[in-house]
Formats: sequence, structure tokens, C-alpha cells
Amino acid sequence: MGKRRQPRIVVVGAGFGGLWAVRTLAFEPVEVLLVDRRNHHTFFPLLYQVAAAEIEPEAIAFPIRGLLRRFPNVGFEMAEVQGIDLTARRLETDGPPIDYDFLILAPGSLAHTFGVPGVAEHAFFLKDLDQAVAAQPHPVGFRAGGPGAGSAPPAASADLRDRGRRPHRRGVRGSPR
Ligand SMILES: Cc1cc2nc3c(=O)[nH]c(=O)nc-3n(C[C@H](O)[C@H](O)[C@H](O)COP(=O)(O)OP(=O)(O)OC[C@H]3O[C@@H](n4cnc5c(N)ncnc54)[C@H](O)[C@@H]3O)c2cc1C
Repeated sequence: MGKRRQPRIVVVGAGFGGLWAVRTLAFEPVEVLLVDRRNHHTFFPLLYQVAAAEIEPEAIAFPIRGLLRRFPNVGFEMAEVQGIDLTARRLETDGPPIDYDFLILAPGSLAHTFGVPGVAEHAFFLKDLDQAVAAQPHPVGFRAGGPGAGSAPPAASADLRDRGRRPHRRGVRGSPR
């Protein structure tokens, strides 16, 4: 008689929630597959520092495969989830479909504009690394009408401005797809 297949648990999202779920299931008698559209986990609490050009983007991007290396029953698939077929227990993705026995959804949240006119078009959002990098040249502009307006900018502001112009490497090293 063949060996009974272990239940397959698919976790969508390699943020704090998804990684915590994976960590809880590691070493349990289940097969776990973590799915994320990116190949890296982003440590959001330091996103502000990237937007302020104080640290490089790669300082807060951790290759997911590296994070999972010590978990023998956990795999990773880089894919964008586009739909769920609840009846067939299958994820539709931008690649091949992914079958599951149990599904954990941890895809995070979207930024909300609360319907305020102009926000979607003109505001800088801060929910991923690309947005943090896009905001980099702008923090000093916030001084214009706010605290410190009218006074000579301190040296740190000029330095920040210069650093904001520097090209940044976007990729995450050591994490092939
Ligand atoms: C700038 C900033 C600073 C923060 N600072 C703090 C802090 O100091 N302390 C604190 O406790 N919290 C902080 N938070 C909040 C905290 O980061 C969030 O509560 C937490 O990240 C939510 O975790 P999550 O796993 O639900 O979602 P996320 O961390 O957003 O992870 C979701 C994951 O799902 C993936 N995903 C989404 N959709 C799909 C899809 N369709 N297909 C495949 N993959 C998908 C994404 O790529 C992402 O990796 C901060 C948030 C931000 C934005």
C-alpha cells in the first residue's frame, strides 16, 4: 500500500502573517507551499528609512527562500494569485494553477484614500519598496509649509536630497526565482 499523501497547505503572502503561519506549520506532518508575487519579504517598519534615503532598499528585503531554508516541509512559489476556485481547491495564478487541501490567505492590505479627491493621483503611498524609492527625493519638500519653513535647511537636508538622487539597486541578491 502506498504511503498516504500529507495534506497540502498553501499560504498566500510572505508578509508577517504568512511567515508566521509557515513558521507555525514547519516540522508538522503537512506539506506547506508559500506563494508570493515577490521573491522577498519586506520589513515594513523600516520602509520610512528607505523613503528618507537613509538605508538601501535591499537592507529591508529578505529573500524568501533563505528565510525558509531551515524548514524541511515548506516550499516557495513565486506567483501572483489572481483567483481562487473554491470548489476545485485551486489557485489561479499568472503561472500554472496551484492545488491545495487547505488555504491560508495573508495577502496584506491596500492603501485607502477614503475618497479624498486628489489623494490617489498626487499622494505618495508607502506600502512597498518601489513606492518608498519613488518617494525618496521628496521628504525635504514637506518642510516647505511645515516645521522649519523659512529657515535655512540644515546640512542633513542637503545630504538627504543628494542621497535621494542616487541610483539604487532594486534586486534582491541570492534569491533566484
Ligand atoms: C510603512 C509601514 C510601517 C509599519 N511599521 C510597523 C511597525 O513599526 N510595527 C508594526 O507592528 N507594524 C507596522 N506596520 C504594519 C505591518 O507592516 C503590517 O501590519 C503587516 O505587514 C501586515 O502583515 P500581512 O502579512 O498581513 O501583510 P503584508 O506584510 O502586506 O504581506 C502581504 C504579502 O502578500 C503578498 N501578496 C499580496 N497580494 C498577492 C497576490 N495576489 N499574489 C501573491 N502574493 C500577494 C505581498 O507581496 C506581500 O508579500 C507598518 C506598515 C507600513 C506600511
